[in-house]
Amino acid sequence: MLIFKTAIDIHNYLDLKRKKGEKCGFVPTMGALHAGHISLVESCKRENDTSVVSIFVNPTQFNDKKDFEKYPLTPENDISLLEQAGCDILFMPAAAEIYPGGIIPSYHYDLGELETVLEGKFRPGHFQGVCMVVDRLLHIVNPNRLYLGRKDYQQCMVIARLLELTNSTVELKIGPTLREQSGLAMSSRNTRLTPEQRSQAAKIYAVLDQLRQHLVPGGLQSLQSHAVKQLEEAGFRVDYVSIANAATLHPVVHWDGHTPLVALVAAFLGEVRLIDNLALTGNATEL
Ligand code: AMP
Repeated sequence: MLIFKTAIDIHNYLDLKRKKGEKCGFVPTMGALHAGHISLVESCKRENDTSVVSIFVNPTQFNDKKDFEKYPLTPENDISLLEQAGCDILFMPAAAEIYPGGIIPSYHYDLGELETVLEGKFRPGHFQGVCMVVDRLLHIVNPNRLYLGRKDYQQCMVIARLLELTNSTVELKIGPTLREQSGLAMSSRNTRLTPEQRSQAAKIYAVLDQLRQHLVPGGLQSLQSHAVKQLEEAGFRVDYVSIANAATLHPVVHWDGHTPLVALVAAFLGEVRLIDNLALTGNATEL
C-alpha cells in the first residue's frame, strides 16, 4: 500500500492512472477503522482498478470541540487493517493540505431541509463541514466511485446532494451498516464506551428493530414516544428518535402503509453520542 501525505502527490499519481483508463474508487474516513470501514474498502477494491482510502479527522464537521479532541486515533492499527484488506493507496493529510488557506468557510452548500432536520438540527454546521471536506477530497482524488456507509444515512443524502450541486459525475455507492453481534452498529466512537455502556448501547438496535416489527399504517406518535421512553429507561439521553420518509427525512406522523420509511436515532450514553438507523419498510433500503 502506498501512503501519501500531500494533496499534490496523490493527485498527480492518480491522474496518471486515470489517463491510462484505470477506474478509481474512494473511501473517505476519519480513521479508528473497524469492520464497517473495511467492508466499504472491500467493495471498493472489487469494483475498481485502484482503491483509495483517506484518513482525516476533519475539524470543520465537529460542532463540539470536546468530541473532536477525544476522537480516537489509531494510525498504526488502521494501516495494518488496510494492508490486510489489500487497499492500494492511503491518503493521510495534515489539515493544511485540506485547508491550505486556513479554515475559512468560503461557500455555503444549499442542502435544503437536510440541514435543518435530525443531525442538521442537533449539530449546527456539521453538514457544511462534511461538504467542505468531501468537496476538497473529491477534487484531490478525483475518483470514479465514492463509497459511503448507510450507518450515516443523512450524510449519504447530503453527499448525494453535494454531487448534484457540483454537477459531479462521481458514482455514489452505499454500503450496508455492519453491526456487532449484539446489534450495536460499529462505530469508531464505540471505543470510548465502557464495557457496561457497550452492552447498554445494543438497546438502540433493539428499539429500532421493535419499531420495524410494530409498524402498522396509521398514527406513529405513540410508537415513537415509546421508543424514546425505552431508551431513556436504558440510561440514554435522547436527541431524537424519528420515523421519517426514507427519501426526504421529513418526519411521518401518519403512515399511509406505502411510503418507504426509515427510523433514525441519536442518543448519548455518558459523553458519547451514538447514531443509528434502520429501514422500516422493505423498499426503504435504497436511499
Ligand atoms: P467515519 O470514519 O465515521 O467518518 O466513517 C467513514 C465511512 O464509513 C462513512 O461513510 C461511514 O458511514 C462508514 N461507516 C461507519 N460505520 C460503519 C458501519 N458500522 N458499517 C458500514 N459503514 C460504516
